[in-house]
Amino acid sequence: MPELPEVEITRRGLAAHLTGLSIKDAVIRNGSLRWPIPKNLAKLLRGQTIRSLKRRAKYLLMDCGNGTLILHLGMSGSLRILPANTSPEKHDHFDLVLGNGTLMRLRDPRRFGAVLWHSGDVHAHPLLASLGPEPLENDFDARYLHQATRGRSVSIKQCIMDNHIVVGVGNIYANEALFRAGIKPQLAAGKLSLPRCSKLVEEIRATLAEAIQLGGSTLRDFVNTSGQPGYFQQNYWVYGRAGEPCRRCGAPIKQIKQGQRSSFYCGTCQK
Ligand SMILES: [Zn+2]
Repeated sequence: MPELPEVEITRRGLAAHLTGLSIKDAVIRNGSLRWPIPKNLAKLLRGQTIRSLKRRAKYLLMDCGNGTLILHLGMSGSLRILPANTSPEKHDHFDLVLGNGTLMRLRDPRRFGAVLWHSGDVHAHPLLASLGPEPLENDFDARYLHQATRGRSVSIKQCIMDNHIVVGVGNIYANEALFRAGIKPQLAAGKLSLPRCSKLVEEIRATLAEAIQLGGSTLRDFVNTSGQPGYFQQNYWVYGRAGEPCRRCGAPIKQIKQGQRSSFYCGTCQK
């Protein structure tokens, strides 16, 4: 599943190709994504110019002048820039046809992605309005995390994966950041001291920033016809390594379930 680093890499890769281009058309082949693609989208978009491509949490926000196209990659979505005459394949559900002879194509086999339209302030959209701060922005800091977790008996891992507290920290990065911060995932959030909140914020930022950097070097190009989705694999400290030796101390990595998600941790390195 694309997590925040993949979405940010996608944003950077696409923004370079899309910004300033005019939109000729929008083609909906299968509008049954997580929410239906608005049927009047082509009418809204024709003749508009793409002013910018931004990101909020895992939503890509394409400013089209008269409104914002909101894109989400869901579980399996990928976006590519292709020559306008490229034949669509089975899971190519949506195209944005551009004024320079290319198109932006959404491929999404599992159809949990989204293509939505919002004509007002996009940050007031119901999907975006109640989101917490961005993990890589300055308003996500130790003091904020400390305050947000006071009195909470829920685990710290579930807290940092809660979009109302901080956005974009998916299961992989939550596991990895907690290992790097030396914090066991099941610790009650309210028990985390201010210095440990500071360490956790630092490691969440570092984990995501390193993944973005790695993705930037791995995924050179969104302009290709190979159909490869833009996801990348990393060498994880704990994620997916149950039973294998901890890379720091050699103890076997443990696996537990928290809120339907797998948590991986080292019982020696994480307290
Ligand atoms: Zn260890």
